[in-house]
Amino acid sequence: MKILKKDLNIHSFLRKIAIAPKTILLLDYDGTLAPFRKQRQKAVPYIGIKEILTKLINLDNCRTIIISGRPAKDIRMLLDLDKYPEIWGCHGAEKITSEGNHVAAKLSFETREALNEAALAARQEGFWNRCEQKHSSLALHWRGLSTREIKQIKSRAEKIWNSITKRKNLTISEFDGGIEIRAKGITKGTAVNTILNEIAFDLPVLYLGDDFTDEDAFDILEKRGLSILVKSEYRPTKADIWIKPPDELLAFLSDLIKVLGENNE
Ligand SMILES: [Mg+2]
Repeated sequence: MKILKKDLNIHSFLRKIAIAPKTILLLDYDGTLAPFRKQRQKAVPYIGIKEILTKLINLDNCRTIIISGRPAKDIRMLLDLDKYPEIWGCHGAEKITSEGNHVAAKLSFETREALNEAALAARQEGFWNRCEQKHSSLALHWRGLSTREIKQIKSRAEKIWNSITKRKNLTISEFDGGIEIRAKGITKGTAVNTILNEIAFDLPVLYLGDDFTDEDAFDILEKRGLSILVKSEYRPTKADIWIKPPDELLAFLSDLIKVLGENNE
């Protein structure tokens, strides 16, 4: 573990967790709880994560929420648990509550039409087979391609999708393993903001993520919570702490359970 902010006092943050009625634990999935796989549908969690999540879900003083770019139902399938946490999918555009209820943000007709236009362009340009259609976005995945192939497919997609984002209320963003065209104003940052608005202002909040898309969440949490970059190699980040998966991640979450458990007794 490496502390990235000079003025951060992790022990005082843990002491806060130890006495708080509820701690909010926000977790990204791909690259954070699960290693990347060429075949995305096979990206199961690191060994030990399912047990840790089960313990966390059973703690009354912790609200565990997974926030992912994937559809929420995909995360449920990959986790394969007896009991699930709350899962916010598609960067917060939809969610499945811990009771299993699905809730999705309503998109305007214009946004849906623009996303259909982006899909049609992907078909015409011949990269539809690498696209994933989601509630509020269309993602192009290039994991497994050579650097040269990635450069080619990226510039093709950006060219045709840029012509759409110039006219419509969509935006293009990059993530680890691809790019995505999605409705403007839906980011992990807005998802975290929604959660912060639902809870008491003094509850401890933690966010663990690996990707560029998690930086929006780190940004929102600045001075409000603890943000943790989970990544094998360091990259510039707004996070407070950097940990390497899976060992440091498992140790961090186990220590957190210990602190929460003592409070829960
Ligand atoms: Mg990720």
